[in-house]
Amino acid sequence: MTKNKAIILDRDGVLIEDKDYAYKIEDFELLPGVIDGLKLLNKKFLFFIVTNQSGIGRGYYTIEDFHNFNNYLIEILKQKKIEILKTYFCPHIREDNCDCRKPKTKFVDEITKEFNVDMKRSWMIGDHPSDIQFGINAGCKTIFLTTGHGDKHIDELETVKIKPTMICNNFFIAAKEIMRRL
Ligand SMILES: [Mg+2]
Ligand SMILES: [Zn+2]
Repeated sequence: MTKNKAIILDRDGVLIEDKDYAYKIEDFELLPGVIDGLKLLNKKFLFFIVTNQSGIGRGYYTIEDFHNFNNYLIEILKQKKIEILKTYFCPHIREDNCDCRKPKTKFVDEITKEFNVDMKRSWMIGDHPSDIQFGINAGCKTIFLTTGHGDKHIDELETVKIKPTMICNNFFIAAKEIMRRL
């Protein structure tokens, strides 16, 4: 059976504006190029969100707040005929030393098993060095987006010697690059 290809998406700073621990609908803002980019990738890839949500562990918002906010995003995408198959979130803080916080790959193992995904032909898109490290750990290709916090962290890639497959400044450009490399 042919395996599926996936795009694993960080959420904040990739799909939506990263407004530091956002959970209120009024703070919801899609980033430019996201809808068109996802539409372009739609036929070839399954979509997943993997997001670190330490705001829960810090007590800034509840798991329910998280779901309300995230479901709003899922619903908006659905209206554009884009389906996120599943959202995986880590509610912990770094100090909890859990198994699910990116760059740890617990969620990759779950995606691989549940959805028969070939990680080698899949991509991780993120705006933080830990997203890229996560993608590398998962064995997929990676795109560092300079949207969100990406601009702030781009120099760290150099310092910690993490090399993404590509660096892009807009989601739609990232999507076109992925399609070019199919
Ligand atoms: Mg992010
Ligand atoms: Zn966790």
